[in-house]
Amino acid sequence: MTDRYAVFGHPIAHSKSPLIHAAFARQTGQDMRYEAILAPLDGFAGSVRAFIDAGGRGANVTVPFKEEAYALATTLTARARRAGAVNTLSFAADGITGDNTDGAGLLADLTRNLHRSLAGERILLLGAGGAARGVIGPLLDAQPATLVIANRTVARARALADSFGRDDVGVCGFDAIEGEFDLVVNATAASLAGELPPLPPSIFAPGALAYDMMYGHTTPFLEFARAQGCAGADGLGMLVEQAAEAFFVWRGVRPDTRPVIASLREPPPAAGWQEART
Ligand code: NDP
Repeated sequence: MTDRYAVFGHPIAHSKSPLIHAAFARQTGQDMRYEAILAPLDGFAGSVRAFIDAGGRGANVTVPFKEEAYALATTLTARARRAGAVNTLSFAADGITGDNTDGAGLLADLTRNLHRSLAGERILLLGAGGAARGVIGPLLDAQPATLVIANRTVARARALADSFGRDDVGVCGFDAIEGEFDLVVNATAASLAGELPPLPPSIFAPGALAYDMMYGHTTPFLEFARAQGCAGADGLGMLVEQAAEAFFVWRGVRPDTRPVIASLREPPPAAGWQEART
């Protein structure tokens, strides 16, 4: 029987996850079906339970349900616990396992697709919301020389750094960022609103990479980086890589992500844009 998977969100119509998982299944010959399910804002757990009753084997979870998925899981992986949120659920007779593949997805995109070696790099992380929280652990594991979290609300960045129990993580507001960085990751929601956080232009070291977790089109942050002569990448690779990690969790098979990233990139980056993804 064909195994069933789904992504739960609200809204969900825009999600590329069904396309991505269908491509992975074709490529690896897995007999599975993956659909998008719009869960009511007050009915996430009920929707998931109905899906399990209908034979669902696993699910991805997106905005705004990642914390609810964390609460729903009966077992949590170490990386889900560290992220405080769940984006991947696996269903078995004895319970629901919650995992988080967002951080692994970012790291895979940075290291495998964009050829960055993060060890010894100076990393600036913009934002202190759910996306930032999900990637801090894996970024620290990569042993950068420094990690600084800059956020509009400084207290939120401080609380985030404290929750990781690391006093070597820097914290500041956008107007107090000092020095230059080899990697600047935009994990704020500013790009969603077409806005640019008020960043000093001097933050990019020679050879730096600007990475915007948002995907789909060039963002004010990537335009800003380009104006400073800096290479950039959007979050499409992270999206596909976190999906590949979830696929591996469920099926035990690693799909080849590159053709999937390439097929989703429509239209190609504008002429003249120094695309870091090769
Ligand atoms: P949250 O709502 O949890 O956090 C939002 C963050 O953005 C906060 O730090 C907030 O600051 C900051 N922020 C919001 N608006 C502005 C603004 N106008 N200027 C400066 N800072 C702002 O969102 P998420 O963390 O869930 O998502 C952040 C981004 O990451 C989104 O663009 C999302 O699409 C993307 N994302 C991409 C993924 C991928 O696979 N590529 C996966 C997950 C997320 P404050 O604390 O002061 O409110």
